Amino acid sequence: MNRPIPGMVQVALRHIVSDQVSGGVVRPATRSISWRDSRFQVRRPQTGKQNVELTCPVCETALVAEVHAESRTRRAAAVYLVLAALSVIVLVAALAYAVHQGGKTLPEGQSYPALFPFSILAIFVTFVAAPLFYLRGRRHNGVSLLNAPMFRGKHALLPVRS
Ligand SMILES: [Zn+2]
Repeated sequence: MNRPIPGMVQVALRHIVSDQVSGGVVRPATRSISWRDSRFQVRRPQTGKQNVELTCPVCETALVAEVHAESRTRRAAAVYLVLAALSVIVLVAALAYAVHQGGKTLPEGQSYPALFPFSILAIFVTFVAAPLFYLRGRRHNGVSLLNAPMFRGKHALLPVRS
């Protein structure tokens, strides 16, 4: 069991060893990714944000992570959860509207109101967005990698749930 230390946040630094796509012509394409995770404890600042250097134990690349204060992290997580809730509201409203309009029998030569295609689009968008925002909010720990994309491409920072 990992007990969280007050003021510290645990993250896993993932070093992506290989990312290969095989097949695709005769057999269905399979993507095989292998990685190695290393756990780190980083200190959270009291206010604002702070940069912390992490050295990847696999390739010894020095990576910089930005760590946000607890209050800021909670606010950002709350924003994602609010966006998730709003997406659900829009989804339900658009669905109700689409069912209502779609269920009508239109008189000859009359087309659906202009809002109808928008409601269909809103259903698709919010159906995808709602769970993404929700997961984002649940997983948000206020720690992100800052390094140049060429280093970041091989690494990922993941939240660790305690
Ligand atoms: Zn590495």
